[in-house]
Amino acid sequence: MTTQYDVVVIGAGPAGYHAAIRCAQLGFKTACIDKSQDADGAPAPGGTCLNWGCIPSKALLDASHKYVEARDHFGDIGITAKGVTPDVPKMIEHKAGIVKKLTGGVAGLFKANGVAHLAGSGRLLANRKVEFTDFAGAIQTLEAASVILAPGSVPVEIPPTPMDGDVVVDSTGALEFTAVPKRLGVIGAGVIGLELGSVWSRLGSEVTLLEALDDFLPMADRRVAGDALKIFKRQGLDIRLGARVTASERKGKKVLVTYKDGEGEHQESFDKLIVAVGRRPATEGLLAQDSGVNLDERGFIYVNDLCETGAPGIYAVGDAVRGPMLAHKGMEEGVMVAERIAGKKPLVNYDAVPSVIYTHPELAWVGPSEDVLKQRGEKVKVGTFPFAVSGRALAANDTDGFVKIIADEATDRILAVHVLGPQASELIAQAVIALEFAATAEDLALTMFAHPTLSEAMHEAALGVHGHAIHVANRRR
Ligand code: FAD
Ligand code: AMP
Repeated sequence: MTTQYDVVVIGAGPAGYHAAIRCAQLGFKTACIDKSQDADGAPAPGGTCLNWGCIPSKALLDASHKYVEARDHFGDIGITAKGVTPDVPKMIEHKAGIVKKLTGGVAGLFKANGVAHLAGSGRLLANRKVEFTDFAGAIQTLEAASVILAPGSVPVEIPPTPMDGDVVVDSTGALEFTAVPKRLGVIGAGVIGLELGSVWSRLGSEVTLLEALDDFLPMADRRVAGDALKIFKRQGLDIRLGARVTASERKGKKVLVTYKDGEGEHQESFDKLIVAVGRRPATEGLLAQDSGVNLDERGFIYVNDLCETGAPGIYAVGDAVRGPMLAHKGMEEGVMVAERIAGKKPLVNYDAVPSVIYTHPELAWVGPSEDVLKQRGEKVKVGTFPFAVSGRALAANDTDGFVKIIADEATDRILAVHVLGPQASELIAQAVIALEFAATAEDLALTMFAHPTLSEAMHEAALGVHGHAIHVANRRR
């Protein structure tokens, strides 16, 4: 028997569940297939983001940050906190509770919007048919006018460090340690490596990050990356650049890692090793040979800017397609596709996708780095403002970092904003709005900001673009 739907979505991560809910809101009979299960085998919609990504990592980042504040910084502001100790099993339990609440929330939203939630695997066949296999192995064929593929991504494994799920783990395993490892190795000083390395370093691990590239965070603005590296080293993260891991060997309960750098070959022994070398699209087994959908050489589903695959009526969104692997990028794509199926004409503005690294201080940016803009031949002017002189940052005892606004020299239009600092993840939203509305630095400079706030740093940086900042000396121009 074939069940008919208007839209079938494969994957209920942020990209897929946004697409499914918006399709249902627009009046389409919609099904969303998802194969994720929790530790008890129950369906767990929400994808990597809710189960093993954004949310659980932030739960541990926030908890470990609060611990460090209490341990190291409460004394600075007149609070005596003695005997502050982390309770790791309790932290993990707290994190698991949030995940359960949110995955249950997605299931509830499906119900409320009338999305049929099908727990199991989906495979795209020819002519917009989808094969659905439930957890018990029963197979059904679904037929749809449109199919949205949102299978997401999985961690990359590298041959020198095969995962054993015990000592050598991926990001998912690193969210489940039940005790603080004494010596923790992290391969890859990218976003995930830095966030998870920070969590365990704050809780007491000696953390060494081995990064093959000579440049630290090459996608970030150079000044932001340079200052962040100094701060992270000060916090105790041993970040070794130009260090390529070539081999590893289990030695009892430890792992011996071999890496090469400019000076030769070295070895380090760790109690746990997190492999955080990137993610790859989860497209294996997703497509029947005659589905009509093409993958590129790295396994990403080939799509155009409208997330259309080569096959009529078949779309793909989220981590499994080109562009940054970010939850919010997939959410926007999911909603865009739903609305396009309904005949509306929205677009995703790929020039205004914010990036955030949730270390402390946080890094956040939208738009290219100053170097990239200059390489493109753009003539720019820059305004910066340090949190060290922000009244609110001083009051909060949290003064590392700065805001940097880059505007076009001729038109004054804001091209990029880079923030290193407290709550950069929240501050960057104003910059994204500025870019979306094609604001100039003057527009921001003429806007009134509440005092005292961290946002005033954004205002002062905009004033600084024109040499009018009040609370720092402006460079003579
Ligand atoms: P996913 O979230 O991967 O969801 C895909 C879903 O589809 C999964 O449930 C999967 O089981 C299911 N699926 C796959 N194939 C099939 C199939 N054939 N049949 C049925 N179901 C299938 N991003 C941010 O923006 N901010 C962050 O702070 C952030 N932190 C992160 C921290 C960590 C540790 C990690 C690992 C990732 C983080 N990310 C973050 C990235 C973010 O999680 C992803 O970009 C996002 O989840 C991608 O969404 P998606 O819907 O494309 O795919
Ligand atoms: P990201 O893509 O942001 O998650 O970062 C992954 C990082 O892992 C990149 O900066 C890679 O350079 C790094 N990486 C990949 N393979 C290795 C390796 N064998 N040794 C050390 N670092 C690596």
